[in-house]
Amino acid sequence: MVSERMKGLGNARSVIRELFEYGKLRAAQVGAENVFDFSIGNPSVPAPAAVNEQAIRLLREQPEQIHCYTSAQGDAGARQRFADSLNRRFGASYTANELYLTVGAAASLCCVFNGLTCPGDEFIVFAPYFPEYKVFIEGAGAKMVMIPPEIESFQIDFDAFERAVTPHTKGVVVNSPNNPSGVVYSRQTLERLAEVLTRKSREYGHPIYLVSDEPYREIVYGGVKVEWIPHLYRDTIVCYSFSKSLSLPGERLGYVLVPAGVTGSGDVYAAVAGAGRSLGYVNAPSLFQQVTSLCCDMTADIGVYEENAKLLVRALREMGYHVVEPNGAFYLFPRSLEPDDGAFSQRAKEHDLLIVPGSGFGAPGHVRISYCVPTERIRRALPRFQALADSYR
Ligand code: PLP
Repeated sequence: MVSERMKGLGNARSVIRELFEYGKLRAAQVGAENVFDFSIGNPSVPAPAAVNEQAIRLLREQPEQIHCYTSAQGDAGARQRFADSLNRRFGASYTANELYLTVGAAASLCCVFNGLTCPGDEFIVFAPYFPEYKVFIEGAGAKMVMIPPEIESFQIDFDAFERAVTPHTKGVVVNSPNNPSGVVYSRQTLERLAEVLTRKSREYGHPIYLVSDEPYREIVYGGVKVEWIPHLYRDTIVCYSFSKSLSLPGERLGYVLVPAGVTGSGDVYAAVAGAGRSLGYVNAPSLFQQVTSLCCDMTADIGVYEENAKLLVRALREMGYHVVEPNGAFYLFPRSLEPDDGAFSQRAKEHDLLIVPGSGFGAPGHVRISYCVPTERIRRALPRFQALADSYR
């Protein structure tokens, strides 16, 4: 006997992974240059040279020490460097003790959901949302409550949100810049969100935590500002990752920030650390704790994502696709050309265009295009998008 839930999760690959694997098989049949894989969010630009230089230097200078265990919550020096960087950039005063290092944003979120959840608790997510939230939240024993998308702007439908907040609401998850819409929440949206959460926390007599999942924090363009959410809402817990900003998804390094001002911050931090322990996520990779903390003020050369976004948005709109303007991350979330996004994705596949149905993100009638690919691939894919559109005329 095994856990049915875990067996189910292990057997059912995500739609994204399914398409990604199909792309590899298809490339073997027709040649990689003829498959236009826009399925997965693997950064297409290399990590900054300084990342490799620091890694090599550390391996040379500390050949034994660098591979050792660190404190469970991460090396104090590395945590201090992350805190200093946040303080410089956001005018805050965090200390090393407010940071818990772990293996990417995925583990950070799992530590937070597992650390916070008590029987009967619920977490609210706004569609379109990163599909793994459901796995992480339910894995922690909580219930995920989804707010349907506000499809004109992909900001927040506040009427639906207010109806969904109940005494069972333990937390609300935001992800801005957003995967899959590419939209950044405006200051107005975040202030309104903070106002509702403050009011409801007071009404129910317990804090409602805002879990801000920010792996795309630095990947923005068009002069859009990403607000530092803890300044707008006190009970914010930040989950971060270097997977996207430094193009290091395989190195598995991220952190949870539990600001000292959060209600019950000592207990929350202890619970996050306890969850990390219980899930076996202690001691994030030692080498990359050091490397990322020495490089955390830089990003990979992310300019290409803006170029890709502009190219795709302009071309797709000319072809008649409806696209909400993205402000960041490296995803586009156009409407599918038929109501059934699964059927649309299948039809795209016939043109060797691999794009992900929006239903898995809680937004049927849309598809996700990951444009973290070489610009040349986008240029060559445009006739395929045109042919796909033509097939509906
Ligand atoms: N959150 C969002 C919104 C993501 O898009 C991803 C990865 O694509 C993650 C979390 C997980 O990131 P990590 O690779 O750091 O675990």
